[in-house]
Amino acid sequence: MPETSLNVVLLRYTPEPEEVVAMAAKLCYSASGVEDLKQKIETKDQEAFVGKLASIGHLSPIEHVSFTFGIEGISRACSHQLVRHRVASYSQQSQRYVREEQFDYIIPPSIKRDPALVQVFEKYMAEAQEKYTRVLKRLEQLGYQGEAGQQDARYLLPNAAETKIVVTMNARELLHFFRVRCCNRAQWEIREMAERMLGHVKKAAPTIFAKSGPGCLYVPCPEGKMTCGKSEEVRKKYGVKK
Ligand SMILES: Cc1cc2nc3c(=O)[nH]c(=O)nc-3n(C[C@H](O)[C@H](O)[C@H](O)COP(=O)(O)OP(=O)(O)OC[C@H]3O[C@@H](n4cnc5c(N)ncnc54)[C@H](O)[C@@H]3O)c2cc1C
Repeated sequence: MPETSLNVVLLRYTPEPEEVVAMAAKLCYSASGVEDLKQKIETKDQEAFVGKLASIGHLSPIEHVSFTFGIEGISRACSHQLVRHRVASYSQQSQRYVREEQFDYIIPPSIKRDPALVQVFEKYMAEAQEKYTRVLKRLEQLGYQGEAGQQDARYLLPNAAETKIVVTMNARELLHFFRVRCCNRAQWEIREMAERMLGHVKKAAPTIFAKSGPGCLYVPCPEGKMTCGKSEEVRKKYGVKK
């Protein structure tokens, strides 16, 4: 059973995202009609205007643009954390419809550091695969064909099992998501995934996401007593100057 690695692809996003946000925001403050507004936005540089929205807390215009990611090489433990974010849409590879002939899995870096632990881990994965296959075959003998057997045999699959998911979030939810999931307090796997997502959207919509990242980049760490105490280090990593 191969170990697998993270792959995050930005599949699609709202075309001209910063123009769309600027149009939505300008409409709030302008007496112009939609056609007029469209002309003005297309011909003017909106960078400063869009950049200001977040700082004045006018966030609803940012909801008009969405980003769709294809993500693979994450564990079910990670995807479970991801789908707790409710202001998003998800489509996940199903263990009910997909037969796990040979499931891939994620080995946490802490376990990889110790060859003896890796052995324990891999042995357990092999056992899980063997038990899954055995139970599935027996269920089929009992008349539970296809998804009827798979949906119950999957109870034997571990949290480490690899999954693939398509996720769509609007920019406002992404700003929130990056604040909590790029944070050092988030688990390493979802943090790595969030950092990759952030890298993609920063290229697609540099102004909207210019100041995006963990919650401590521009203000004191919001985690209070739970802080990792490494805000300075984090700011340096994100290239934020004091
Ligand atoms: C470090 C860390 C540790 C965690 N530990 C645990 C844990 O031990 N146990 C656990 O169960 N979860 C845990 N979580 C998950 C966490 O509680 C949230 O479920 C998850 O981060 C989703 O974020 P969210 O609820 O802010 O917002 P999203 O679902 O992303 O929604 C965005 C925002 O919309 C608003 N919103 C959405 N839905 C509602 C609603 N129904 N009512 C009012 N406002 C709403 C809120 O302002 C919310 O912040 C942890 C998360 C992190 C980052």
